[in-house]
Amino acid sequence: MLDLAIIGGGPAGLTAGMYATRGGLANVTMFEKGMPGGQITGSSEIENYPGVTGEITGMDLMMPWPEQCQRFGLKHSMVEVTRVELKDDGNFTIYKGDGTTEDAMSVIVCTGSTPKRAGFKGEDELFGKGVSTCATCDGFFYKNKEVAVIGGGDTALEEAFYLSNICSKVYLVHRRDTFRSAPNTVKRLKETENIELILNTTIIEAYGDVMGVTGLKVMTPEGERDLKVPGIFTFVGMNVNNGILMDEKGENAICALSASGNVIVDLKMQTNIPGLYAAGDLRIDAPKQVVSAAGDGAVAGVNVITYIDEKLNS
Ligand code: FAD
Ligand code: NAP
Repeated sequence: MLDLAIIGGGPAGLTAGMYATRGGLANVTMFEKGMPGGQITGSSEIENYPGVTGEITGMDLMMPWPEQCQRFGLKHSMVEVTRVELKDDGNFTIYKGDGTTEDAMSVIVCTGSTPKRAGFKGEDELFGKGVSTCATCDGFFYKNKEVAVIGGGDTALEEAFYLSNICSKVYLVHRRDTFRSAPNTVKRLKETENIELILNTTIIEAYGDVMGVTGLKVMTPEGERDLKVPGIFTFVGMNVNNGILMDEKGENAICALSASGNVIVDLKMQTNIPGLYAAGDLRIDAPKQVVSAAGDGAVAGVNVITYIDEKLNS
């Protein structure tokens, strides 16, 4: 039986693995369905990870992390986890995509979240090259330039405000003429001088060249419009990757979730189920940054060591 199963090999999972193994847990496996590194590996530039200066891609940032973890004994299994089950004895069974299972005394779930794609032409090809889902991360690249924001929920409006303080102009493109966000937020949006609302509008395509995005074509009620923007931010909702926490029937989660599907944790990153932890973008109130995901992983890794110690000595 594993001491600890870590599910997801992004910044949270890798850091949890490093702290748990370096702190003395001998039998720890990180299950990652793709290459370790997480969603940041899709970013063309990261400049807000402390201590890392100069131009660096998300891939460059994450490259050394797995090797550092393996030095302390973290095992990596490249497989998708399909479900985590709480057993009667308080341990867990990990169900894997290859049909096999593995038991573990504790689990840290670090499966992150996935920004929804809006589905317009050019979005996938230009993702990370001017199409972004993170204004905190990428907004500064468009300082004093014009950008487009797509969406009409709280995230789109709040990120539009954030961008309006950096960029010369923000086009807020929304498919309806009413918003999902709070009335006060909408009022503030309408009062912000350098945000232009383009409503009842659908996206035709994003286009660009080898350097990245150069524009966005939209269909407004008045006809086609070509926005010559180097940056497009899509905020059309998030998919929380919580599926592996659902029971066999897919009806109920094995631990408490918020209304938006995020895992509810305490300051130790522990869920309401002893031995089950969650870290990174998946947890409630996550700032959705690499540094905070890594910090969560460290907190969870350290606390699992104490949990296992107490369990074995009780
Ligand atoms: P993730 O990075 O999402 O990692 C989750 C991992 O779990 C993935 O590798 C996934 O493959 C794996 N996984 C999921 N489900 C399963 C399963 N069932 N079985 C096995 N493996 C599974 N943050 C910054 O701080 N600065 C930036 O500049 C920045 N730029 C960004 C740019 C882009 C384009 C994007 C998309 C995000 C950016 N972010 C940035 C946000 C940052 O990437 C996330 O906050 C961070 O990666 C979250 O880490 P995580 O470990 O919680 O989850
Ligand atoms: P959201 O509320 O689901 O809004 C998504 C927006 O994107 C909607 O306006 C939707 O349009 C639009 N959209 C969806 N698919 C699209 C597509 N394919 N093409 C174009 N537009 C598309 O998502 P969110 O803004 O990320 O918020 C998620 C949750 O977090 C919400 O409950 C929100 O209240 C909460 N949140 C709260 C705060 C806060 O309290 N300060 C801040 C951020 C988020 P339609 O409106 O037409 O469906």
